[in-house]
Amino acid sequence: MNLYEPFIQNDRQRELLDMTAKLADTFATRGEKFDREDAFPFENVEDLKAAGYVSLTVPEEYGGKEISLYELVMLQERLATGDAATSLSIGWHLGGLMELSENRPWDEVLFKSLCEKVVTERVLINRAATEPATGSPTRGGLPETRAVKSDRGWIIDGRKTFTSMAKALDYSLVSARIGDSDEKGFFLVDHSLDGVRIEETWDTIAMQGTGSDDLVLDDVSLSTEALVERDRDKPEGGVLPKAWLLHIPACYIGVAIAARNEAITFAKEYSPNSLPGPIKDVPEVQRKIGEIELELFKARQILYSVADKWVKEPHKRSAMGEELGAVKHIVTNSAFKVVDTAMRIVGARSLFKSNPMQRHYRNVRAGLHNPPMDDMVISQLAHRALEQ
Ligand SMILES: Cc1cc2nc3c(=O)[nH]c(=O)nc-3n(C[C@H](O)[C@H](O)[C@H](O)COP(=O)(O)OP(=O)(O)OC[C@H]3O[C@@H](n4cnc5c(N)ncnc54)[C@H](O)[C@@H]3O)c2cc1C
Repeated sequence: MNLYEPFIQNDRQRELLDMTAKLADTFATRGEKFDREDAFPFENVEDLKAAGYVSLTVPEEYGGKEISLYELVMLQERLATGDAATSLSIGWHLGGLMELSENRPWDEVLFKSLCEKVVTERVLINRAATEPATGSPTRGGLPETRAVKSDRGWIIDGRKTFTSMAKALDYSLVSARIGDSDEKGFFLVDHSLDGVRIEETWDTIAMQGTGSDDLVLDDVSLSTEALVERDRDKPEGGVLPKAWLLHIPACYIGVAIAARNEAITFAKEYSPNSLPGPIKDVPEVQRKIGEIELELFKARQILYSVADKWVKEPHKRSAMGEELGAVKHIVTNSAFKVVDTAMRIVGARSLFKSNPMQRHYRNVRAGLHNPPMDDMVISQLAHRALEQ
């Protein structure tokens, strides 16, 4: 039985997973080249568009597949076994659309128009919410990017850091301070507008392929309708937790699975002349493989069961914030442990640039810096326990 079989619930999921597996396996063959050249994986993005992957979370009424959170997790995990950076990047696009689809905070005509563009023109969108001064937006800092009312709409100025797949985006949802107030809003910014440019600042050792460059906005004129979300319009009972962020742990556990597969293949094939056969028969190697399986079992059961609960028990969603954070913490840390153990099986060869293992090692580290961060998860759990 393969690793995915236990989680497939129906034929639709099997078909979607087969389609994703083809993409992932193709991306895996390009990983080393993109990594060595420090290049943005445009070819992968084109393949995702051609396969219709980019419209998976668009509502059915607007021409998409309207996949569930459970399905998103499953497909993103599989995609990441081929290329983690491509999975994380497209995860922001798919997850962002899923959030809009579930909550419908926008004017419906505008949302419909965006969905139709995703389906027919394969446009890409992402949230640009991080800035040099605020750091992670989850910490609550107010953006320095500012939108000022003009005769025709808004003029927006600012710089966003860490904007994944910036070079491939058609639209960004940019967080900005509204005028001189302390209120924050999100503005829909078309990247073809005058004053919108990308500055190539993404010079990292991990997840290079996300191309998370700076998005710079110099006196960009926007229409009145571009202000699509603002703090004061949030529902009184609060907004639902951002369950779609589970695409993050799904991505990093996908990296761990890729490392696990490499290590198992190596253990079956590597046969040093000090042993009668391959190292798979060495008890210590078997112990490490068993530990990997245990870690993956734990992490994936938690990831999939919480995603399933979100789908099947919608009345519990509003109380799931801490649970979703705990999933991110457990799964990304498990992924880190799995990659580390897999590298110990492979030994020093895992450090060669030609070995995908060293790429997995660098990539899995980035999970710590995607939201929610570990310290926030722990503190939220503590607060909940103390309040009960
Ligand atoms: C691969 C990758 C892709 C990304 N893609 C996107 C994207 O597409 N769009 C986007 O908007 N963002 C994106 N991000 C940005 C991400 O969401 C974070 O904003 C970013 O990684 C910065 O997080 P940080 O914890 O390092 O930063 P900071 O918040 O600056 O934190 C740095 C350090 O200071 C501490 N710290 C800072 N503030 C506080 C506080 N108030 N209380 C306690 N401790 C504090 C933190 O614990 C940490 O140790 C991406 C990040 C990565 C790594």
